[in-house]
Amino acid sequence: MLAGHGGLPADRALLGQPPKTGLSCKMVLQAVGKVLRKSKAKPNGKKPAAEEKKVYLEPEYTKSRITDFGFKELVVLPREIDLNEWLASNTTTFFHHVNLQYSTISEFCTGEACQTMAVCNTQYYWYDERGKKVKCTAPQYVDFVMSSVQKLVTDEDVFPTKYGREFPSSFESLVKKICKYLFHVLAHIYSSHFKETLALELHGHLNTLYVHFILFAREFNLLDPKETAVMDDLTEVLCSGGGRGGGGGDAAGGAAGAQNHVKER
Ligand SMILES: [Zn+2]
Repeated sequence: MLAGHGGLPADRALLGQPPKTGLSCKMVLQAVGKVLRKSKAKPNGKKPAAEEKKVYLEPEYTKSRITDFGFKELVVLPREIDLNEWLASNTTTFFHHVNLQYSTISEFCTGEACQTMAVCNTQYYWYDERGKKVKCTAPQYVDFVMSSVQKLVTDEDVFPTKYGREFPSSFESLVKKICKYLFHVLAHIYSSHFKETLALELHGHLNTLYVHFILFAREFNLLDPKETAVMDDLTEVLCSGGGRGGGGGDAAGGAAGAQNHVKER
């Protein structure tokens, strides 16, 4: 799936890693089959795709996190740290985590299962370096994303690591571009591979990563609200109360606060 456009070795290695859950592939497939069989019991013969219930919005799953830490405080720029350094280090980390999270379900994200890069009813197209629209499957799209982001974060002219080197003037717009792509991948995992993520018991990781990523992007205005609207229902539930997991009672107030925050920017 990675062939054709020179993905970097590190990228390949990451994507090629098996999920670190201690489960064998067969066990995972059996578990996924079980979940899928259970949820597809629709006798009316309707197509499940667009109208299918969003399992990831069910409270028993949205409460799941791997930490109760409040990400709202964590994403704020620390004193004495340069803004671009902060953006660079966080963006790189998010890239690695999204890559890893996707790798856990990548064997199910095939050209047959995901013929287009779809998130709910939205379809994304890749645009090549000349701006030409490329029709591709979801795994191809994700591969384009991972390869191009890998190229950027390892480019010393864009993400300088050596002392005295400056960030380019285009740095912020490149970070925004990266965030947009990473958002597409996360949203695709939710909309098309949540059941497999559940079967792997990695939904707590996914939720935690999503909350951290969204709150970070919101803090620095890195994602266009129009772009993220497709997942607003999930964002509202997960990011209320500063992104802490398990919150129920004050969720409504927290969500309203979060929305106001978006509008301000
Ligand atoms: Zn997929």
